[in-house]
Amino acid sequence: MSDFSGRLIEFVRDHYRTNEFIPLHAPVFTGRERDYVLDTVDSTFVSSVGAYVDRFERDMADYTGAPRGVATVNGTAALHIALKLAGVESDDLVITQPLSFVATCNAISYCNAQPVFVDVDRKTLGLSPVSLEAWLEENCRVGGDGVVRHNSSDRAVKACVPMHTFGHPANLDGLMEVCQRWNLVLVEDAAESLGSFYKGRHTGSFGALGTLSFNGNKIITTGGGGMVLTSEPLGVRAKHLTTTAKKPHPYEYIHDEVGYNYRLPNLNAALGCAQLEQLEGFIEQKRELAQRYGELFKGSELSFIEEPDHCRSNYWLNALVCEDNEARNRLLETTNSKGVMTRPIWALMNQLDMYRDCLRGPLDNAEWLAERVVNLPSGVLGAAQ
Ligand SMILES: *Cc1c(COP(=O)(O)O)cnc(C)c1O
Repeated sequence: MSDFSGRLIEFVRDHYRTNEFIPLHAPVFTGRERDYVLDTVDSTFVSSVGAYVDRFERDMADYTGAPRGVATVNGTAALHIALKLAGVESDDLVITQPLSFVATCNAISYCNAQPVFVDVDRKTLGLSPVSLEAWLEENCRVGGDGVVRHNSSDRAVKACVPMHTFGHPANLDGLMEVCQRWNLVLVEDAAESLGSFYKGRHTGSFGALGTLSFNGNKIITTGGGGMVLTSEPLGVRAKHLTTTAKKPHPYEYIHDEVGYNYRLPNLNAALGCAQLEQLEGFIEQKRELAQRYGELFKGSELSFIEEPDHCRSNYWLNALVCEDNEARNRLLETTNSKGVMTRPIWALMNQLDMYRDCLRGPLDNAEWLAERVVNLPSGVLGAAQ
């Protein structure tokens, strides 16, 4: 094992060709970022109005195959709006996975709803359709009004939010089938899976709504930003809600509901347009690195997480599964002390103070993974390398 961290460190240093600190994921600006960003400055349209926002939304809809993309100030805001449009209201329950970044649960809380934690699959790291079905079967009933209700609390269960962990698509066929049967709105947290396809279709375009993030650590970045992917009618609603619910008028300020100032500034959209032009190249590089990691770990006690069947994963963050928690801790310690950044998976959401008392099913797989998974340096090479 200690042998192995040595080989891993050597491999990563050789790949990134540096003896300096190697982060998990750093953005790379080797395209037309400068031109586009300076263009917004020169035009003075840096803020809430501008052509790059429209272009970014259109380009992203084209790329993902979603009818409509609505840009937002970050991925968490996109999730908040997506949940509102899914009909999530105060005191509702929303099913999600405990293995995720905290933003997923926070967005549920912004709707004054509460997350319910259901286990993930070990292979995909995403919400398990079998566990979802089991929790619903055991704890819920469908009322006469068609609304699913939690038996003991009588609270409505409105939506289901799987997350495509590290860019690996969850079992969407299975999830769609269970959601359809139980009348749940499927909202995909695709923050990590831009460029990942399930059976040829882009993640985030299966549910009624899907969301992306363009935070600095994601596969492409706008500095900060996000997007709602959805149908044309829901897209119109998303645009309205994220732009302070202002009625179109040449000069009057009339707002017809409580809206949000969640729009993405044109300055950020300009960066996004330039980044999106390079996305396929980034993915090619990341998939090549993933393949090399896979070969490195072959025959060792560490197993590298590979894309699920029938999927093309963007391999946003490469990940491996250690034998046990002790082995994980040793690997984290050795690599980080040598300036090669590695990280454990997030603390499970059901273990955080504010979500400790939420309803949940058995979480054996999530717990097993949380003890063992380590993320590896995964960024694309910059101009200097
Ligand atoms: C990054 C991320 C988000 C959104 O994050 P923002 O920083 O608000 O853009 C949401 N969910 C997951 C799983 C994420 O990784």
